[in-house]
Amino acid sequence: MHRRSVLKAALAASALGCLTPRQARAAAPARVVVIGGGYGGATVARYLRSWSRGAVDVTLVEPDAAFVSCPLSNLVVAGYRQMADITLSYDALGRSHGVRHVRDTAIAIDAAKRTVRLARGATLPYDRLVLSPGVEMQTSAIPGLAMPGGEQVVHAWKAGPQTETLHRQLAAMRDGGTFAITIPLAPYRCPPGPYERACLVADYLKQHKPRGKVLILDANPDITSKGALFRQVWESRYKGMIEYRPQHETVDIDPATRTIKFDVQDDERADVVNLLPPQRAGAIAVSAGLATANGRWCEVDFLTMASQVAPEIHVLGDAVQIAPLMPKSGTMANQHGKVAAAAILQLLAGRAPDPTPVYTNTCYSFTSATEAIHIASVHRYDAAEKTMLTVPGSGGLSTSPSELEGRYGVAWARSIWADMLG
Ligand SMILES: Cc1cc2nc3c(=O)[nH]c(=O)nc-3n(C[C@H](O)[C@H](O)[C@H](O)COP(=O)(O)OP(=O)(O)OC[C@H]3O[C@@H](n4cnc5c(N)ncnc54)[C@H](O)[C@@H]3O)c2cc1C
Repeated sequence: MHRRSVLKAALAASALGCLTPRQARAAAPARVVVIGGGYGGATVARYLRSWSRGAVDVTLVEPDAAFVSCPLSNLVVAGYRQMADITLSYDALGRSHGVRHVRDTAIAIDAAKRTVRLARGATLPYDRLVLSPGVEMQTSAIPGLAMPGGEQVVHAWKAGPQTETLHRQLAAMRDGGTFAITIPLAPYRCPPGPYERACLVADYLKQHKPRGKVLILDANPDITSKGALFRQVWESRYKGMIEYRPQHETVDIDPATRTIKFDVQDDERADVVNLLPPQRAGAIAVSAGLATANGRWCEVDFLTMASQVAPEIHVLGDAVQIAPLMPKSGTMANQHGKVAAAAILQLLAGRAPDPTPVYTNTCYSFTSATEAIHIASVHRYDAAEKTMLTVPGSGGLSTSPSELEGRYGVAWARSIWADMLG
């Protein structure tokens, strides 16, 4: 029997729970390679293995030894959590689910030959490829970052060493100093994240450097998420400490004097500059020619998360050109991962994917060490529009911050980590 037919038969039988051990041995397993072990990639890897009952061979290419979560990382910036609290092992993905973790970086994709080349020289063949490489910071858009001292101006928008650097810079800032955070034009990773960070930095300053200030320099015309709630918190809890300036698009910085330059307004100097550069899909997606929306984001078919230009390559998470009101969030990347896993198994078995997938999103933002607010939405596939549309009357928003929501926020993180990493 042809390899594809064997695969189809094996997957169809496996999905029905009737794959005999003999059939399983006879069928060469379908090979799925997943690039990137973050919220999207780890989820799709885990669910491809679980839902195929081990019939699909899954290799996860991820250079890092452990997963480090961006959600909750703003608490680390403010000193309320340690890096160890947001760092999780990939071991259970292998031990409990049989995902093979290759610690390497994908550097090239040959879609015709269906292979991925890795930085250390290996080549991996695949039947289906999934990319969830997150975002690339477009640092070249801010020339000063390449000048001497530019490395001291961090974004900390990928949790890791920069998260700790930013905390150290905050801790070293003089009382009476200004902590500036710059926000690029949307779309960018985690719309409410910068405003959450501003709250937590202000909370830290209130306790340790009460004369300190937080300056939010936003390229957007207004707060991009949970605007009324953030304003309410800034007015009630951090009055006089947080200043918000919309329509301030950062175009450059002088690292020596920490002077920020804008497209229109006068320069601004700060003691600590937390500069979030413009972003686009992770480099491997761009170099593979998948970033079809302005060379920045990857357009996909939301039924399967398959690229619109390479149907056997699926793209998840922040790298995707979003549907209306769909945020670039960890919850959403996790949902992309599940929809893609289900669709890939259907396609490998020669069946049509679910015609009406539903994606849900919940995003918590901490407004202090213990209190949080949330926003939730539900998105359903619309066959006429060929995109995801929010379900009328669905979703929700907090009325005010609370400690109960703070506990929910931590519980959300723990449960999504368990869901994606096993
Ligand atoms: C401060 C902050 C707070 C946030 N808070 C929340 C929150 O409360 N709730 C929420 O839902 N979301 C939140 N987010 C957003 C969330 O972190 C992202 O939306 C999510 O990480 C996107 O998942 P992803 O799989 O696309 O990318 P990531 O999770 O970033 O994973 C990408 C992975 O790909 C790997 N990779 C990249 N290129 C390659 C390559 N060539 N080869 C191999 N591996 C590669 C990287 O090493 C990385 O591990 C927050 C983000 C930030 C910055």
